[in-house]
Amino acid sequence: MGVEPQITEKGTGLIFILSAPSGTGKTTLVRAVVQQLPCLRFSISFTTRLPRPNEREDEDYHFVSHSVFQKMVERNEFLEWAEVLGNRYGTPRPDLKKLKSLGIDLILDIDTQGAKKAVKEMNQSVLIYLLPPSLKVLRERLMMRGGDSLERVKFRLSHAKKDMGEASWYDYAIVNDRMEDAFERLKSIIIAERCRRAKDLILEENRRRWEEKNG
Ligand code: ADP
Ligand code: 5GP
Repeated sequence: MGVEPQITEKGTGLIFILSAPSGTGKTTLVRAVVQQLPCLRFSISFTTRLPRPNEREDEDYHFVSHSVFQKMVERNEFLEWAEVLGNRYGTPRPDLKKLKSLGIDLILDIDTQGAKKAVKEMNQSVLIYLLPPSLKVLRERLMMRGGDSLERVKFRLSHAKKDMGEASWYDYAIVNDRMEDAFERLKSIIIAERCRRAKDLILEENRRRWEEKNG
């Protein structure tokens, strides 16, 4: 086996930031990619929003009260936080040194305001924007997901168009039409970025093996 599959199976402390209008399919894709790719962890955010019926505490989010969230803001415990559609969401500060030494990459599912703040603090971030194929499809997905009133769905849709205007400053854009295609593209981006960051390591290890074999 060549050296790069072994090296790129590990992370290097990269931060993948995924944003999209609510209902596009971020959660579904992130779950799938974290399950399939080794050394990739999901960053669990804190939120003041109430859990949806299928959501689990400490897996999807850490669900907290407004006062607990406020205390965390005052103690500067968030890498970034933002108010999104009437609720507050925050990313706990990652231990970047530890992630790097353990060979782990992190994937964040955060909105565009949060992405802007996070990228300023972490230059190893890779920004990926996920787009719904159409507003009609987005509406259907929001309805299918459940947990929102019709009014709330309308509110989310009105926010979606503006949000998509932010996609231009992201590194990558993926349209989530067929789930399998979007998943393959997301996975490919992560693997490609791992290869890019690990280039020097791959060259060094390859040279070492060459010398061992060929003298
Ligand atoms: P988000 O995290 O972006 O708010 P979710 O992952 O919760 O979105 O997805 C919203 C709904 O759309 C869910 O019911 C999910 O199963 C569905 N969904 C996600 N991606 C696709 C897709 N490519 N095709 C059809 N349905 C999808
Ligand atoms: P939802 O309520 O649908 O789970 O999420 C609503 C929005 O909040 C989504 O755009 C999601 O990406 C964003 N979000 C989730 N966690 C965070 C976070 O920690 N920080 C920021 N800024 N946005 C977040």
